[in-house]
This record gives sequence, structure tokens and C-alpha cells, in this order.
Amino acid sequence: MLNIEEIRKDFPILSRTVYNRPLVYLDNAATTQKPRAVVEAMTDEYYSVNANVHRGVHYLSQQATELHEQARANVQEFINARSEAEIIFTRGTTESLNLVAFSFGEAFLKEGDEVLVSVMEHHSNIVPWQMLRERKGIVLKVIPMTDEGEIDLETYKNLFSPRTRLVCIAHVSNVLGTVNPVKEMTAIAHTHGAKVLVDGAQSVPHRRVDVQDIDCDFLTFSGHKIYGPTGIGVLYGREELLEKMPPYQGGGEMIARVSFEKTTYERLPFKFEAGTPDFVGSHALAVALDYVRGIGQDIIAAHEADLTRYAMEQMSLIPGMKIYGTAREKDAVISFNVGDIHPLDLGTLLDRLGIAIRTGHHCAQPLMARCGVESMARASFALYNTRAEVDALVAGIDRVRKMF
Ligand code: PLP
Repeated sequence: MLNIEEIRKDFPILSRTVYNRPLVYLDNAATTQKPRAVVEAMTDEYYSVNANVHRGVHYLSQQATELHEQARANVQEFINARSEAEIIFTRGTTESLNLVAFSFGEAFLKEGDEVLVSVMEHHSNIVPWQMLRERKGIVLKVIPMTDEGEIDLETYKNLFSPRTRLVCIAHVSNVLGTVNPVKEMTAIAHTHGAKVLVDGAQSVPHRRVDVQDIDCDFLTFSGHKIYGPTGIGVLYGREELLEKMPPYQGGGEMIARVSFEKTTYERLPFKFEAGTPDFVGSHALAVALDYVRGIGQDIIAAHEADLTRYAMEQMSLIPGMKIYGTAREKDAVISFNVGDIHPLDLGTLLDRLGIAIRTGHHCAQPLMARCGVESMARASFALYNTRAEVDALVAGIDRVRKMF
């Protein structure tokens, strides 16, 4: 079991107040809070190691490079990639997805080729494909879902054609919390010769993710959603695909040799990492992953599953409550509306009680349209949340409901 009170001490922000109330932070799907170890890793590195990586012969540069490359090995192990060459550091999930859309698109997609995306994708996993459609004339097909918020697998199977090249699917929906059957979906896609990109922004922080077990071709995630800093993220790509893909950006770090006549590119993964990387961020991300390992991914997942079950039960008792996403497998995200209270009003009034939730379209407007609403309220949990905080949320919602 988790010793939550001890864990909460690792996160200084959790002991602050908002409007003279204890902070109840339930916006973890947007970003998580940072443990002391992560923040200290960043200040320590700036105070005592800071030097640009890869290029320096001097001591500090070598030390910074070592930390940066150890972080890569750490990420490789965390998601069980085959090699460090398969781990590309980016600014986050969004940049990772744009990298694939641009570079895989350049290498492998022609006019009329098809890319499947699900109706529950975050805009980050929709817009880059639409931009590619503008550039190359690819065809985007939408994988539908059931009213419970599960992927409609039968329709999915029938969407494939000889022109289907890629399937883009969120492992866990940032709105519905649905855990999509990415392993099964990948196996189906591969029988059709299509590649699979899994957006792991909402799964990697909450459950064990093993890219070899899923057998996906790409996986993306963001450091800031797994207790790490902002500005650092990861793209995992299967090595033989990455080898065939052109660089996404040009500049320093990604070159082998430059002349005005011709430039050759660095080996993987550096070919995709133009410019000075966020080497402080990568190290701090590794510290965050160590923090998660230290507590235990299965223990965290069990705790969050308990919170989600409890919150679903308690919230369902509130009159007028409509919860979006009741999939059989659901992670720590609960989106909802209450009667005809506008989510913005609900969020604003809860904020006055010290309770931070998210309101709006959650960067998933096509999903909002599928659910027949413009916006929703969303509570999302992390390892430091408690049943008492769920009680505070439920009491807060009930109080707002009675005001209306
Ligand atoms: N994909 C999903 C499922 C997300 O939840 C998010 C962020 O909320 C993103 C992509 C984009 O992540 P980032 O803003 O860190 O690039």
C-alpha cells in the first residue's frame, strides 16, 4: 500500500492553500505536480554541472552528456525499448506526434494513402495529420467509439484497405479515461501491413507500458505528465523505421558533416535532435521515472484504480450527474457535467473551494461533438491524491449544484 501522507510531503505544492483552503489538485491529466527530487535535480544540475552536451572535451560537458545519455537509457528501460537509438528526446507529446507526421509522412506516405485516427484523439494527434493531408493529399479515416466510450473494434477492422499505412491511437483517452486495447489494435493493423502510433501521454504516467509487448511502431509521451519537468518529452520509434525517416529539423547536433554542397546526418537518435537538447530536463525526467519506479508502478496503478472506482461511485450519486466514459477499462480521468450548470461556472466555483479541476473541450473538440456537448468538467488523479480529496470534490459539486 501507498503511504500517501509521506508521499505528499515529497510534493511541496500540495501543502499550499488557495483562497485560504487546502489545495485539492485534480488536474493531473493536464500536468502533474513535481516531487522535490525532480526540482532539486534541476537546480543541482544548473548550479554544479551545467555545460552544453556532446561537443565538449571539458569535464562539465562530459558530465552533462553522461547525465543526458543515462536519461535516455533510463527511458529505454522504462518503456522496454530495444535500444537507446529508439529513444528521441522532444519537447513533449505534441512535438513527438508532429515529428512522426512530418518525417514518417515524408518517407512513407503518398497521395491517397490512408491514416486512421480515433474519434477520441487529442488535437495533437489530429491536427498534424490534417496538415499532412493538406501537404500530401493523404486520406484521414476516423475510428468510431461506442456510447460507453470504447473503440468500436468491429468497425475498426473494416476501415482497413490496401492503402492504409498508419493507425494513430491514444492508449488512454484524456477525456474519457478509456484504456484502449492498443495491443489488439496493433496486431490487427500489422496484419494489414499498417504501422501503429500509440499516444501514451495519459498511459505512461499511470501504468506499465512496454513497447515490445504492445508491438507498436511509435509511442509518445510528455515528461510533465509523469512528475517530470515541462519542455521534455519522448518519441519511441522502431529503429528500422527511424533509419528510413528523414530528419524533422536541421541544425546543430543532428549532422555528421556539413559543406555547402552536401550535408550528411548523424546516426540515431541524434538525427532527430537538432539544436541543444533540454539536457537538464532529460536528467530531471529520469529522476521522475526513478521516483515512480521507487514507489512501484503497479502500486500506483492500483491506488489510482481505487480512487477512480470510488470517485465514479460517489459522483454517480449526485443528482443530475452525467459522466462521459464508462468503459470497462478506465484510467484515472473522469469527465462530467451536472444538470445544465455550465462547466466553466462549476470549475470557477470549485476553485473558490480550493479544488482545481479542468473545464472546457480538453483539446478534443471532435470527441465533444460525438458526445453532443461543447464542454465538460474533468477531474483526474495522480499518485498523491486521496479518498478525502474525492470526498471534497463530491461535496463541492453538490454545494455548487444546490446554488443553481
Ligand atoms: N495527447 C494526449 C492524450 C494528451 O492528454 C495530451 C495533453 O493533454 C497531449 C497529447 C499533448 O501533450 P503535450 O501538451 O504535453 O504535448
